[in-house]
Amino acid sequence: MKVVDLRSDTVTRPTAAMREAIARAEVGDDVFGDDPTVLALQARVAALTGKEAALFMASGTQSNLCGMLAHCQRGDEYIVGQLAHTYRYEGGGAAVLGSIQPQPLVQDAQGRMALADIAAAIKPDDPHFARTRLLCLENTWNGQVMSHDYLAQATALARQHGLACHLDGARVFNAAVADAGPGGDVPAALRRITGYFDSVSVCFSKGLGAPVGSMLCGSRELIARAHRVRKMVGGGMRQVGLLAAAVDHALDHHVERLAEDHRRAAKLAQGLQGLPGLSVRSAATNIVFVDVDQGRGADLLAHLKARGIWATGLIGLRFVTHLDVDDDGIERTLAAVREFCAQGSTVSASPAAAAGPY
Ligand SMILES: *Cc1c(COP(=O)(O)O)cnc(C)c1O
Repeated sequence: MKVVDLRSDTVTRPTAAMREAIARAEVGDDVFGDDPTVLALQARVAALTGKEAALFMASGTQSNLCGMLAHCQRGDEYIVGQLAHTYRYEGGGAAVLGSIQPQPLVQDAQGRMALADIAAAIKPDDPHFARTRLLCLENTWNGQVMSHDYLAQATALARQHGLACHLDGARVFNAAVADAGPGGDVPAALRRITGYFDSVSVCFSKGLGAPVGSMLCGSRELIARAHRVRKMVGGGMRQVGLLAAAVDHALDHHVERLAEDHRRAAKLAQGLQGLPGLSVRSAATNIVFVDVDQGRGADLLAHLKARGIWATGLIGLRFVTHLDVDDDGIERTLAAVREFCAQGSTVSASPAAAAGPY
């Protein structure tokens, strides 16, 4: 039975064509700065995001960490959403390794911190306080696309107070494809989003389907500082052109097709909406969250697992569409959930792992 793996868009396997691109890659030693495939990719992604420079990273966590440490000194502070990846899901790296204090703020259902809360959290220049240096936003957030109004207002507010702005754009290509709309100009949509920020971290190992890799983009000066941090955290990689070739292939072939993932997620959400005992909490771009009544989330996960359909969550289940989920996978998932809902109540199975934005 073919598994329909909806746990995350990180689970994609490199396609045959991507493996061929990897096999053909010209490589050098990127710590010596002479891997041509990495250098070309960094230039390509810097141009795509409208920044002066970019630096290849092992992961999105490493990319955000290097970005935050490049922006902030010990004793500085960053303002961040309470549920943002850079605060909650990165092992506290900015605090542990950079002595940078987070100032987490409550977010609304769209992932937005209130502008008044941001303004109130920015500390005056006074020896009592950490120096507030940086605002971190995330787009998409739980699949939801941040509005341009919000991005413009939040970053303008930060700038008024001398803060820099960083975007955790792990899924910013999904946001750009959604913003551009059918037949729209995706690169222009991407640059419109990244234009609000001093630095942007993008991931290639999620919806774009590369096996490994992220990139931090920003000014030449910022990227030079991040380069030093990357070395410090063990992120200097050698013949990494093999990975860069996979990313190049993904940028050529897997960007526009994100719209298919969005269409399938919408179809899944539509089919789930209104089933007894379920409610769709949010469905945007490639991520669907579903609340399950009466603590039956674990039972539903187990029911799906037995039918070769994998998802994550407990009360709120998460389904993520990607390159390796086709229309048949969505149909099978809908059929299995309908079957579950028709069965009524069962004794609860063992709890499943909590959902996270992995
Ligand atoms: C996946 C993700 C990251 C980076 O995760 P890695 O597993 O370290 O690559 C960062 N931010 C968000 C919002 C993510 O979803």
